[in-house]
Amino acid sequence: MKVEINDIAKILRNNNNFYILTHKSPDGDTLGSAGALCLALQRMGKNARVLCSDEIPEKYEFLFDGVKNQNFDPSYVISVDVADVQLLGENLFCFADRVDLCIDHHLLHRQFAKVSYVESHFAATAEIIHEIIKALSVTVDADIANCIYTGISTDTGCFRHSNTTSFSYRVAANMIDCGANAFEINKIMFDTKSHAKLSLEKIALESLEFFCKDKCAMISLTNEEIVNSGACESDFDGIAAIPRQIEGVLIGIFIKEEKKGIFKVSMRTDAIIDASKICANFNGGGHRCAAGGTIFGSLIDVKNKIISEIELYLHNTEV
Ligand code: 5GP
Ligand code: MN
Repeated sequence: MKVEINDIAKILRNNNNFYILTHKSPDGDTLGSAGALCLALQRMGKNARVLCSDEIPEKYEFLFDGVKNQNFDPSYVISVDVADVQLLGENLFCFADRVDLCIDHHLLHRQFAKVSYVESHFAATAEIIHEIIKALSVTVDADIANCIYTGISTDTGCFRHSNTTSFSYRVAANMIDCGANAFEINKIMFDTKSHAKLSLEKIALESLEFFCKDKCAMISLTNEEIVNSGACESDFDGIAAIPRQIEGVLIGIFIKEEKKGIFKVSMRTDAIIDASKICANFNGGGHRCAAGGTIFGSLIDVKNKIISEIELYLHNTEV
C-alpha cells in the first residue's frame, strides 16, 4: 500500500507499542532515524523501543541518551532504512513477515512490509523521519535534533556525497537551531579513528589492485586479517570509500570476508556509473553511487565475478 507523510502521522497517532527495527551492521542513518522516531513517539506518550540485530557501536550510543527503556509486547512494527528484509539480520529475522510499516530511501528497495514509504530522492531516511515528526507536531528537542543531524550527516558523508541536496542542508541547519551539536557529531563521525581502524586501512591498502584500465580499484580484507586486527564493526566505516577516492577511478570496491567464504561487497561509484545496477547482478542493491551485496566462494572467485559484471556494465554503457 502506498502512503504519504500525513497518512503515516495518522497511523502513528492511532497505534501504540511500537518496535522500531534498524538494519544489521547499523550506521548513523538507521540508528539516528530509529532514535528520533522512538523519542518522538515516547514524547507523544506512546511505548516505543529500538531493536538492532547487532550490537550498537559505541560511537552511536549517545543517540539513545534520551530514550526511556520500556518493556512491552509490540503491536506495531516499523523498519527504518532497511532496503531488504535480509538486512534486518539474524536476530530480527523473526519480524521478517510482520513489519507493518517500512520507511526507507533506497533506490533499490525490495518490498516486504504491509505499508511502505520509500522515496529515494531523500539523501537519508532521517530526512523522512524529520518530515514525519513535523507532521506529528512533536517539538524537536536537542536529543531528536542530534539523531536527525547524525542520520543526514553520515549518509551524505558530511554533506559531500552526490546525494546531498539543499533540503539536506536546510533540515540540518534547522536541527542545529533545535540544539543539535553538529561540531561534536562531525568530530566523532568524521575526524576520529581508532587504532584498530588505522591498522585495518593499512592492511586493506596493501591489497589494492586496479582493473578495467584503472577505472576500477579494489581492496579486500580476509576474515583472518579482520580477526587479527581486533577491529569492531564501526571501524569499517569509510573504508569502502577509499578506492573510489583515487584520481581517475570511477568504481571503487571493498571486499570484506565476513565469515569463511562469505564476502560482503561494497561498491562506490562516480555519478556516471550506477552501482546499484551492477550489484543487482549478484543479488545485491543500494543506491546509484553506493551499493553492495554478498557473494559466496573463494576470494579469487568473488573478485572475478565482480570484475566480469563491471566489464559487462562498462561494455554496455560505453563509459
Ligand atoms: P555498504 O557498502 O555501506 O554496506 O552499502 C551501501 C549501500 O548498498 C547501502 O545503502 C545498503 O543499503 C546497500 N546494500 C548493501 N548490501 C546490500 C544487499 O545485500 N542488498 C541490497 N538490496 N542492498 C544492499
Ligand atoms: Mn540511509
